[in-house]
Amino acid sequence: MADQAGVKQGRLAAYRRKRDVRRSGEPAGRRNRTTGEEPTFVVQHHLASSDHYDFRLEVDGVLRSWAIPKGPSVDPHDKRMARPTEDHPLDYADFEGVIPDGEYGAGPVQVWDVGRYRNNSENRGRPIEMAEALRRGHASFELDGQKLHGGFALTRIRRGRDESWLLVKKADRHAGKRVPRTTRSALTGRTLTQIRKDDA
Ligand code: MN
Repeated sequence: MADQAGVKQGRLAAYRRKRDVRRSGEPAGRRNRTTGEEPTFVVQHHLASSDHYDFRLEVDGVLRSWAIPKGPSVDPHDKRMARPTEDHPLDYADFEGVIPDGEYGAGPVQVWDVGRYRNNSENRGRPIEMAEALRRGHASFELDGQKLHGGFALTRIRRGRDESWLLVKKADRHAGKRVPRTTRSALTGRTLTQIRKDDA
């Protein structure tokens, strides 16, 4: 029987296969979960071959990840397309820098928002764990970040090769609020241009 660390390493196989972390400068993924805290979420603005945001939620020792072309919206009327990508290690949550040319995802990465989340997912009125909610294709959670706050839902709308989800803001008191420091890093206050310059 695989222990939990072994399971986690297995889930990061795709992450490792896609990149050489010695060249790319990205985290190797050694950090394990610290207990007694709410799980992490992070939104990274990533100016790769396409401009997109990576939305990541800590679930069972890894960061489950989706690429969102337009980024999250705080307007409950907006449905933001989210494409699942490979699980990332927990230490990716504070990775900010430039992935060098020739490497997978080359371009600057900014920690656009980071914080904790609370799982509110249910099935037939009963609370379920995040992993199960994602398996079932509908997760409900509350973000407590520096920019994003309140309820959001992720819903799978297509399975298979073109698996897609929608990220939608819940209509609560945080809906429609202006997002502060939109172009700045939640970690360092830097813009993507500054991140690129600092890494040159
Ligand atoms: Mn990305």
